[in-house]
Amino acid sequence: MASEAADAGAGRDFIRDIIDADIAAGRNTEVVTRFPPEPNGYLHIGHAKAIWLNFGVAQEYGGRCHLRFDDTNPIKEEQEYIDAIKRDVHWLGFDWGTHLYHASDYFDRLYDWAEQLIRAGKAYVDDLPAEEMRVMRGSLTEPGRNSPYRDRTVAENLDLFRRMRAGEFPNGARVLRAKIEMSSGNMNLRDPVLYRILHAAHPRSGTTWCIYPTYDFAHGQSDAIEGVTHSLCSLEFEDHRPLYDWLIENLPVPSRPQQYEFARLNLGYTVLSKRVLTQLVRGGHVKGWDDPRMPTLAGLRRRGVPPAAIRDFVRRVGVARANSVVDIAMFEHSIRELLNTIAPRRMAVLRPLKIRIDNYPADGSEELIAINNPEDAAAGTRRIPFGHELFIERDDFLEDPPKGFYRFAPGREVRLRYAYFVICREVVKNSAGEVVELVCTYDPATRGGNAPDGRRVQATLHWAAAAHAIPAEIRLYNPLFTRPEPDIGGDIIGELNPMSLESLTESRVEPALATAIPGESVQFERQGYFCLDPLSTPGRLIFNRTVALRDSWTKVRATGAQSVEKS
Ligand code: ATP
Ligand code: MG
Repeated sequence: MASEAADAGAGRDFIRDIIDADIAAGRNTEVVTRFPPEPNGYLHIGHAKAIWLNFGVAQEYGGRCHLRFDDTNPIKEEQEYIDAIKRDVHWLGFDWGTHLYHASDYFDRLYDWAEQLIRAGKAYVDDLPAEEMRVMRGSLTEPGRNSPYRDRTVAENLDLFRRMRAGEFPNGARVLRAKIEMSSGNMNLRDPVLYRILHAAHPRSGTTWCIYPTYDFAHGQSDAIEGVTHSLCSLEFEDHRPLYDWLIENLPVPSRPQQYEFARLNLGYTVLSKRVLTQLVRGGHVKGWDDPRMPTLAGLRRRGVPPAAIRDFVRRVGVARANSVVDIAMFEHSIRELLNTIAPRRMAVLRPLKIRIDNYPADGSEELIAINNPEDAAAGTRRIPFGHELFIERDDFLEDPPKGFYRFAPGREVRLRYAYFVICREVVKNSAGEVVELVCTYDPATRGGNAPDGRRVQATLHWAAAAHAIPAEIRLYNPLFTRPEPDIGGDIIGELNPMSLESLTESRVEPALATAIPGESVQFERQGYFCLDPLSTPGRLIFNRTVALRDSWTKVRATGAQSVEKS
């Protein structure tokens, strides 16, 4: 397990308390956990919590954590997802070592155990059509009713189950059910389905099988086979625990794992459901699983979120028994806090407005010294070119500044960062009345950004020299959904945020950014943290905004404004 993943230490939570107690009482001598994704989609930040918990706990107690693919439904599962999941777990900083498993590794054993249940009179083949079976299971207020096939003889059940396996029946014709209790208060104990017929090739077992175990029949037994001691899963599996325990008790399994449930991570303005995320990808609402707006680990990586920030975030959220929705600001805080210490500062003008320095030689240029990271002296300095024509940020200038606007305006003097003081002398407009250029003068005595006479300015602007700056596309991201708690049961597509991506194609960045590489964050001064997009090319730079310097989206939403006034 990567030791860097142990950063910031563990939390204290009820899971760790349980493990402490198990060890103290001698119930366990080692701790074995597992992360059990179904390969039917990419991992999202909710999974990061489960990964961090399972791998983290194993690491803290000197045990081990398995990566086990819950690959029991070949209709929905794909090799692409298996590969992506492995890549993302590693990227997050965790390693299963030699402990890579698949539920499909156990298909033979699970099948034998199913026959064993049949022989013990604890499972039967049911021919009821799915809809009828559903109705007869009853509801929370109404007990279920026994299937007319429930009392088949062992011989008949064995014969039918073997013929199911041999491929004699079409999909859906029959299932194998556990014989437990149709009037149980727990719906999961009302003769749950253990095997269904699926004539589908499996990514690993090919066409060997045409019947597949259900999640419930595969999961606990897989844990037991692997010697998992603590089977940690999210709260929705709490009602499955009695079935998990029933199967463990009624089968000759080699060990007895215990299941514990914790609250899922829910994040504001975000959907963490593979079903919905698949819908977004397949429907073309986002540009793939790694679209930087997606809450997938692949999307967050492309957006420039470092894995350590994700680990820090899930550690801060902690592990609890009660469901809640975590404010996205908390995630952004973890990202900013980390990037502030490591990201080199650069200057980029997102929405350029040209300024001309009238008293600077038209063909002149010079290099000025800029600090790479004020938080890290070792990061050193760099040179940035200055010249006669420059770009500044369009919204750093107002022709008629209201009270409280301290940035650039006619007749006003401001500092160009690391360069000079400049005064706006004239505003040039086009025929439509739009400001297209500012004519300015500079004070040569203020080189580096300070006036020898001690006079002060109210604002410091970032800028880029027109002759040297590199054109770039800069993509700004806002939450994918308009509401803090998107309704995944409703018209989820209708809740997509039309402003989730804003693409700025006229941006200019300082020459040092020509050597930017994907995965290495930079801070664009006064703007936020950015990262080169992997699809960027030297001739066409694309930067993704990881996170703004401040939380502006909440304010945009609160005021309905398109942009926020703040220097
Ligand atoms: P989804 O609902 O997104 O499809 P899932 O639970 O079906 O998720 P799995 O691949 O089965 O996805 O999940 C693997 C593990 O990750 C499970 O143990 C599950 O409990 C855990 N997990 C999934 N989503 C979250 C979440 N939002 N927070 C914490 N753990 C999660
Ligand atoms: Mg699941």
